Parts: sequence; C-alpha cells; structure tokens
Amino acid sequence: MFAGCHVSIREGYLGAAKVAYQLGANAFQYFPKNPRSLSIKDYNQQDAQLCKQFCKEYNIVSVAHTPYPTSLTPSEEKRELTVTSLLNDLSIAEACGSIGVVVHFGSQIDPNDPLKAYQLMISVLNEVLKQWDGQTLLLIENIAGKPGSMGTTIEELVQIRNLTDYSEKIGFCFDTCHAFASGVWDGDIHQAFIEKGLEHDYFSNVKAIHLNNSKYGLNSGKDRHAGIMAGKIKSEALKNLVRADEVKDLPFILETPTEDHGQEIKDIRSFQQE
Ligand SMILES: [Zn+2]
Repeated sequence: MFAGCHVSIREGYLGAAKVAYQLGANAFQYFPKNPRSLSIKDYNQQDAQLCKQFCKEYNIVSVAHTPYPTSLTPSEEKRELTVTSLLNDLSIAEACGSIGVVVHFGSQIDPNDPLKAYQLMISVLNEVLKQWDGQTLLLIENIAGKPGSMGTTIEELVQIRNLTDYSEKIGFCFDTCHAFASGVWDGDIHQAFIEKGLEHDYFSNVKAIHLNNSKYGLNSGKDRHAGIMAGKIKSEALKNLVRADEVKDLPFILETPTEDHGQEIKDIRSFQQE
C-alpha cells in the first residue's frame, strides 16, 4: 500500500522525500514552491534530481500540490500569472519525479451564468496543457461545497476532463473529506459512489487519494480536515474505501492536522491489512 502525508520542503525536495521515508511513508505530497504565492520559483534542479533518484530507489510515489491562490477560474488580471505558475509547478514536479500536480476544481464566477466558470476552466486548462509536454499529470481535485455546488461531483470532473483538448494530460485526485462534506461519498453510499465512478469511467483516471477525515458532518459543505481517527467519517467508511479494488493501489495521502503522522500512516495501513 502506498501511504503517506503532506510534508514540508523546508529542507528541499530531497529533504521532503527523506522526511516522508523516516515517517514510514512510501507516498507523500509537497508544495513545489511558496504555498501562498503564484510567483515563479527558480528551483534547484540538482535537489529535484536527487529527490527523484531517492524516490526511485525506495519505491516512493510523490505528488505536488499547487499554491493556495491557484484557481482554475482566475480573474482576467490573474490569468497569465496562474498559467505560468501552473507550468512552473508541473516542471518542478516532473523534475522531482512526481506523478502529478494536484489542483482544485474552479469556482463559480457569475451566479447568473453558471456555465461561464466551466468554460473558463476548460480554456485555462487548454492554455496550460498545450504548453506542457512532460509525463507529470495535472490532477483535478473535487472540492468541498454544499451538495450541488460546483466541483463536487464525479460527473463534473469527468466532463471537464473530456471537454479539454488534452484529456490525456489530466487525472484526478479524490479527497474523502471534500466528498463527505459535499454529500458525494460516505459509508452508507459507498457502493453507489463506486458504481457511479465506474459508470463514468472516473476511477481509471484517479491517480491519488487525499485520505482525510472531516471535522463537520455529511452535507455540511465545509472544508475542515480532521485527524484520520478523529472526525465525522467513520473508520468503517474509510476502510471500505481503502480496500476498494478501484483505488487500493493508489497513493493515499493524509492532509490531516495531526502531530503524529507516523501513527496515522500505521493506522491507514491497518485499514487495508485487517
Ligand atoms: Zn485535498
């Protein structure tokens, strides 16, 4: 099982991989650059190369996560910066040997014309991906919102990917907290969720799982992660997901507000083993 957590790049990319390894992880996520800014990072290529080699040697899978201000539905003023930032993230991730760069689904920009946001998202994705020739994929993540709000459903994820000109460069990252908060997935609707995913050919393009618990309940619409054993999602539901044939071989990455990620990694490994 590929299991791990989000780690800091305080000690560089190789340093991040080593921190993950020391925690007992064989999967990790990192911010390729300052998480609070879209500015371009002139990164240390040698460090990235060493990270890639280390991960290859120890069979570790990594994904990068775009900085917080990244939006696939940017304002006109932010569009160019967003596109160059995403290309910068993809380049760094590729150099580090990462399988993908996680980016959140876009958000509504015009309440009177909901389609506008989807159209903008497709156009931004096309602009980025026509300039990208690497192996690293852009992984679109489902977001947390009240049931029915933008970016929460399997249908939207699959449609957006299909409607771009470069669908082969796009995969998905599934976040359990976001799906639970949006009412898309829970223990009780687990089987229906799996069936819907298969029907829409979603799982063949899911490349990573953000395994998080949720501080708030089903349908709350709130994006507040909780420790894996300390939230509203029952362990049984998380176990069912981790064991599902459709996802069991993917990297499971914790984004939980916990001090002891080593213990949580053991906990989620036990979900699959029991
Ligand atoms: Zn996430």
